[in-house]
Amino acid sequence: MESFDVVVLGTGASGLCAALAAATAGARVGLFEKGDQVGGTTALASAVAWLPDNKYAAEAGVDDSREDALAYLGALSHGLILPELAEAFVDTVPELIEWLETSTPLQLRLVPGFPDYHPEHPGGKPKGGRSLEPELFSFRQIPGWGERMIGSTRPMRVSETPIGGGTGVLPPEVAAERQAEEIEGLGRAMVGALLKGCLDHDVVPRTGHRAVELVTDGDRVRGVRFETDGGPLEVAAGAVVLATGGFEFDTDLVRDFLRGPMTFPAGVPTNTGDGLRMAMKLGVRLGNMREAWWVPVAALPKPDGQEHQPVLLVLRERTLPRSLIVNSAGRRFANEAANYNALGGAFHEFDPSTFGYRNLPCWLVLDQGFVERYGGFGAGPGGPLPEWVLQAPDLASLAERIGVPADALAATVARFNELVAGGHDDDFRRGDSAYDGYCGDRSQYPGVAATLGPLDTAPYYAVELHSSTLGTKGGPRTDVDGAVLDVDGEAIAGLFAAGNAMAGPTGMVYGGAGGTIGPALVFGYRAGRAAVTRR
Ligand SMILES: Cc1cc2nc3c(=O)[nH]c(=O)nc-3n(C[C@H](O)[C@H](O)[C@H](O)COP(=O)(O)OP(=O)(O)OC[C@H]3O[C@@H](n4cnc5c(N)ncnc54)[C@H](O)[C@@H]3O)c2cc1C
Repeated sequence: MESFDVVVLGTGASGLCAALAAATAGARVGLFEKGDQVGGTTALASAVAWLPDNKYAAEAGVDDSREDALAYLGALSHGLILPELAEAFVDTVPELIEWLETSTPLQLRLVPGFPDYHPEHPGGKPKGGRSLEPELFSFRQIPGWGERMIGSTRPMRVSETPIGGGTGVLPPEVAAERQAEEIEGLGRAMVGALLKGCLDHDVVPRTGHRAVELVTDGDRVRGVRFETDGGPLEVAAGAVVLATGGFEFDTDLVRDFLRGPMTFPAGVPTNTGDGLRMAMKLGVRLGNMREAWWVPVAALPKPDGQEHQPVLLVLRERTLPRSLIVNSAGRRFANEAANYNALGGAFHEFDPSTFGYRNLPCWLVLDQGFVERYGGFGAGPGGPLPEWVLQAPDLASLAERIGVPADALAATVARFNELVAGGHDDDFRRGDSAYDGYCGDRSQYPGVAATLGPLDTAPYYAVELHSSTLGTKGGPRTDVDGAVLDVDGEAIAGLFAAGNAMAGPTGMVYGGAGGTIGPALVFGYRAGRAAVTRR
């Protein structure tokens, strides 16, 4: 039987980091991936990493500190963050960055000015400093792996896209040069650079290997059983790291654990909670199970024969001026420009009288002025918007098309326009936070006009928004090294977890852009290293 010092399951940010950390600590590492391609949801992501108190912020003159970072997480915790995990996260950042940049071609850089998601909380950073993006990466460094990685080619840095403050358009000569050099940005760049580090250390991922069972010897983990196209396979391992992502694509686990409605998850469909099930069989202690990285999405037309619903994350369109969100009563219910994860709480608001979710279903509504200035949903300024966006010549007809009371929608828009004219959203404080306008009209940022503008020009448009997730973040509870704990709180020998497969170290908090990949890198690194030293 094949035998490894450390076996890592999953090839997203956490798995690649764990595999490389174990390899650079001298271990013989087996890296296995269920999908036909490597990269997980990480490869589909923008791959910003939220890493507080980092050297790039210091170089840029941002005033940050361990104390600020911990105060910030503490202020948002609602009792769900274990202080020792928060401390391990923050304290590992300098070491992680140093190690990443010496062991892999991954270079991180500051996304200038990207505010934290709750920047007015104690320790928050309204002018950014904690969100780092991967530098561009040439797939020529890993010949053949571009096709073996999930996701499509996106030759830009986050800071060149509208989300990061850029235009989203590259000069033709730059675009041509990047294409010729097989240069990419965002998630595939991060995965490519981490993968290059793994390959350089003789860790070659094997795809099409779905881990289904942990092999134990007494009370320690000794190996893994896989399903593969070639039949069952068992490997021996000194330690196993679960980096199998969340359980968002398993309807049973979603129903049984998540705190509220979640439809149309946005990541890779192979994330079906396999790591969670394997761990549960060993009697692990679970944590953070109700939580996910929530995000509003629009459902895109589904091609015939496709199993999973394609979605579009809706961020810019609900942040730009001349848009608002209404529920089925035709009423606004939240600051539309708040960060996506926090909006999940508004989607889960329950009405005891109707015994229903007050704000689902809901619709984003915008006007022709929006379309003229900004386009939206992939269209440039002036449009036309895609066909799946509902359109109506006036507000009353739009209300009829989406099934909300016409008088309520008219009153909501009138009230919103009145607030806009007064320069302040008294109802939901949209525009109060330094975060709110950042992904809005950057020509007006900072200032409420970056996100507040009237809806007054026909025709009007609407898109239904769904309560989705970038990934769940509940799983086995771990210690600060990712060692999985049993129900009595004792570490299970030889078992570690990282990324969305572990009980999320930041509770329900999404600290800022990169709030999921930052901790995934840190705890992947810590788990991979500890899997060698604590076997
Ligand atoms: C469009 C989009 C944009 C995003 N942008 C950002 C961003 O900019 N910053 C940020 O912080 N977060 C972002 N996220 C969220 C982020 O991508 C994920 O939370 C993060 O990548 C999860 O990393 P992971 O390593 O835990 O899991 P994943 O990257 O999902 O990797 C898990 C891997 O495990 C594999 N696996 C599952 N089961 C098994 C098994 N039984 N055996 C072997 N392998 C298995 C899966 O196939 C998968 O490849 C974004 C998400 C989406 C969808």
